[in-house]
Amino acid sequence: MRTAAPVLLTPGPLTTSARTRQAMNLDWGSWDEAFNQLTASLCEQLLAIVNGADSHHCVPLQGSGTFAVEAAIGTLVPRNGKVLVLINGAYGKRLAKICEVLGRSFSTFETAEDEPTSAADVERLLRADPTVSHVALIHCETSTGILNPLAEIAEVVARHGKRLIIDAMSSFGALPIDARQVPFDALIAASGKCLEGVPGMGLVFARKEALAAAAGNSHSLAMDLHDQHAYMAKTGQWRFTPPTHVVAALHEALLQYHEEGGLPARLGRYADNCQVLLEEMARLGLRSFLPAAIQAPIIVTFHAPQDPHYQFKAFYERVKAKGFILYPGKLTRVETFRVGCIGQVGRSTMQAAVAAIAEALREMEVLDI
Ligand SMILES: *Cc1c(COP(=O)(O)O)cnc(C)c1O
Repeated sequence: MRTAAPVLLTPGPLTTSARTRQAMNLDWGSWDEAFNQLTASLCEQLLAIVNGADSHHCVPLQGSGTFAVEAAIGTLVPRNGKVLVLINGAYGKRLAKICEVLGRSFSTFETAEDEPTSAADVERLLRADPTVSHVALIHCETSTGILNPLAEIAEVVARHGKRLIIDAMSSFGALPIDARQVPFDALIAASGKCLEGVPGMGLVFARKEALAAAAGNSHSLAMDLHDQHAYMAKTGQWRFTPPTHVVAALHEALLQYHEEGGLPARLGRYADNCQVLLEEMARLGLRSFLPAAIQAPIIVTFHAPQDPHYQFKAFYERVKAKGFILYPGKLTRVETFRVGCIGQVGRSTMQAAVAAIAEALREMEVLDI
């Protein structure tokens, strides 16, 4: 089977609907009232997904997701603050790197790539170091697909009077997070993941008091979320050139999100994608890296076949020729590859993808099936 446009089974950029792509077929003026309304409507809808309208501001920011993470840390952590970074994969390591580059004091706690950070760990770490002001956590660590226990960790952080910064980039919109129950100073998401928009903007849900107190913290002009928000609140416009087409596409993607049934429906479809993927791959003898209990229905890491004929690049090219784009593994110790469950895809696409994988491996004389 050969499709003209390949299906992206990657966790952003991902497969978007034709309707979302068509929404980019129009040029918007950044001063135009209609465009400002689009941005305002977007922020309102996004805040509603986390029940954050009373407690948080939605601050959109141009750039990829990492720009928003860097902006959140640079804006919300005061220069004399200290961040405890919880790590079990590449995105957690990136958080620590951001603190280092920004010159914020930080310490790290790292568990194995198949071991979630526990609330008990955080309890112990906060007791041991009272100088920590902020805790930074990856909700779903996309480098493996592991899910960290956000609600339990947030409870411990709040009980110690510390601030929580959550990188929920690959989970926001699919896994429930309720700002009325889970206290956080910042939750970071992006246009091109579970919301099924196109990449190009990040989103920071910042607690109102924390953002108000953050004036002057940022070393960067462009990445200052306090300024970004203040300007938008005053004028209704983006501070610098907005990613107009990305905003329009995300607005259209959100209409479809609501039509589909909002978060429960999106989670249901991704969970079904994930289950079908795991079952069909298991039938080929391909094992997932994580146990089911800590596997988020966002992306699945598979052990590469133990066969001298297997080589990721050749495998990737063969699967791509059959219409599906896979993702390389991101583990240093074991040879793996990843398959995303998110995007405008359903169970029949997942089945077709596994069929393409089986065929590719057969062609490479890797699988005896
Ligand atoms: C995608 C993602 C990011 C942002 O990555 P970019 O390449 O900058 O968009 C950050 N954290 C997590 C957990 C992600 O999945």
